[in-house]
Amino acid sequence: FIIYRAGRPLTWKEIVEVRTLLKNDACNDLIKIFRKHSERKNDPFLWGDEIEYSLVRFDHENQHVQLLLKADELLAKLNENLDKESCPVEFHAEDCNFVIEGIPSIPYSSQISSFPLVETNMKSRREVVQRFLNPNEFILTFSAFPRLGCFHCTYPEYESDPLNSFEYSLTCSDYYKTPEYPRTMFLNKNVIERRQGKVSVNVPIMKDTNTSDPFEDDFSSYGVENWQKYVETRQINHIHLDSSSIGWGCSCLQVTLQASSFHESLLLYDQLIPLTPLFLSLSTSCPIWRGYLSEVDSRWNILSKTTDDRTNEELNENLIEFSRYASVPCYLLNSSESFNDLFIHYDKEIYEKLIENNCPSVVAKHFAHLFIRDPLYVTDQQVNFEQNSSTNLFKFENHNSMIWNSLRFKPPVTDEMTSLGWRIEFRPMELQLTDFENAALSVFLILLTRSILSFEIDLRIPISLIHENMQRAQVKNTIQQMKFYFRKQNHICEMTIDEIINGSENYFGLKSLVLNYLNSFEDIDISTRQTMNEYIEFISQRAKGDLLSNAMWMRKSIENHHLYQHDSIVSEQIQYDLFRQIEQIANQKQLNLSHLISN
Ligand code: ADP
Ligand code: MG
Ligand code: MG
Ligand code: MG
Ligand code: MG
Ligand code: MG
Repeated sequence: FIIYRAGRPLTWKEIVEVRTLLKNDACNDLIKIFRKHSERKNDPFLWGDEIEYSLVRFDHENQHVQLLLKADELLAKLNENLDKESCPVEFHAEDCNFVIEGIPSIPYSSQISSFPLVETNMKSRREVVQRFLNPNEFILTFSAFPRLGCFHCTYPEYESDPLNSFEYSLTCSDYYKTPEYPRTMFLNKNVIERRQGKVSVNVPIMKDTNTSDPFEDDFSSYGVENWQKYVETRQINHIHLDSSSIGWGCSCLQVTLQASSFHESLLLYDQLIPLTPLFLSLSTSCPIWRGYLSEVDSRWNILSKTTDDRTNEELNENLIEFSRYASVPCYLLNSSESFNDLFIHYDKEIYEKLIENNCPSVVAKHFAHLFIRDPLYVTDQQVNFEQNSSTNLFKFENHNSMIWNSLRFKPPVTDEMTSLGWRIEFRPMELQLTDFENAALSVFLILLTRSILSFEIDLRIPISLIHENMQRAQVKNTIQQMKFYFRKQNHICEMTIDEIINGSENYFGLKSLVLNYLNSFEDIDISTRQTMNEYIEFISQRAKGDLLSNAMWMRKSIENHHLYQHDSIVSEQIQYDLFRQIEQIANQKQLNLSHLISN
């Protein structure tokens, strides 16, 4: 059911034959960009969010809720009917056909008076899409559908077909993928062909009083004979996931920021690194996997595992240190070199080429490290077999966009239509159920970034501690349970999220940093200032534990459900009731976060 619009995708075998050529092409493209833009200056601070929206369908008669496989149809209608003049929004296809990505079509500025537009724009995206849906269908902002990968979790329903599935999945049908978007299937197929093994993720189950002990994950409900042979890598006391759709079916909240110059983009990138685990922890919203309550609150490690294309040799000999989806491997400024305490492999030839072109050594290492990876999705049109030809068809951006770090460093893109400067994409955050929460997290991040630059705050700690913090950010009840490595004045210590945001003895806290920044403007109108205060107060209360994370709210809601048997199982009926609540919370007319109040 695939239509090839942009050329025929190459198989993994074909990519192997041309990968060196492709990497050279991408590297030459990068050098061209670097030469043209390394001195670029005075770009305005621009920024924007990205939200991956999920589609669900309620069947009230049978008390079911299912993921709605309709993104392709919806996108066609939206593109036909959207009037960007009156409604500055834009939608993109995603990996799974129950997700569409929505963004503001015009980025925001650094003008604080424009920040209330963020939530307004999020609201219009939701409303615009909702207009094209039937009464029992909804566009919602959650990060992981609790029963994704359970039998018949989509509408229309598709049977499992592991023998014919491109990824041999027992749990998810190939029909979950977005048709006419061949990138997703080929990319995921190439991941498993490269590493020579199916997708295999084992998530520790949350042991409740009636959970079977030991817990052995069971797949008999899928109606597939000899199902055991498809899930050979499952582990005792773990929930087993075997499809790229369970990883890429997750949604997140991303924010892209444009720096004024190359140098400022390095500074910004380095200061955003310590914030990645903190914002992951604050936004955790994924406690349930394949219908079971788990010991984790986050999607992060699961996506990291799903997309890991390293071979056994590369893993065992540590030739490639991290998955392609991972916390950032290094800082970028030369002055940050002492914080880069994790060894990373990099492509020596590409490094030398970049150095010859005056790229600073630490940045050159970052770029050269990207090139230890192979491209995973390439079409025949992008392959340029003519040596010495002047046109690079395999662009640096193609390569860069197949590596999913917690931050993405994006060099400028210029053509007749656009001129984008040096940008950083902030990628760790999980989605919240309400536009208010998503706007609060995005705006707080931006205000914090502006404050850090304006007061010259330095948050850098060794990169190995950032990786440790990233793990702590995913633990069940992370905000309340964990401490995080953090730079307090001039030394590094372990602090709770509450202490980091709200301050403690001898530490002012990030909240007062942001408040001081806001107070330095005299011209903010009362209503904008009030909205900013509400966002800051929300972050502050969540950090304190007065307001639950979305993950902890979901856990509480299930534990209190009259049908929950304390066996870790989130049944269809429980999920249906949970999603009735979620729909009401998301679409309430007046903001009300009372469901999050902890007691
Ligand atoms: P990608 O899918 O590559 O991550 P998208 O185009 O989906 O990027 O989203 C980019 C985000 O960046 C959007 O929110 C958009 O409004 C915003 N944006 C657009 N131009 C700029 C710019 N020059 N600087 C910063 N952000 C921008
Ligand atoms: Mg996008
Ligand atoms: Mg995407
Ligand atoms: Mg996306
Ligand atoms: Mg996605
Ligand atoms: Mg993005």
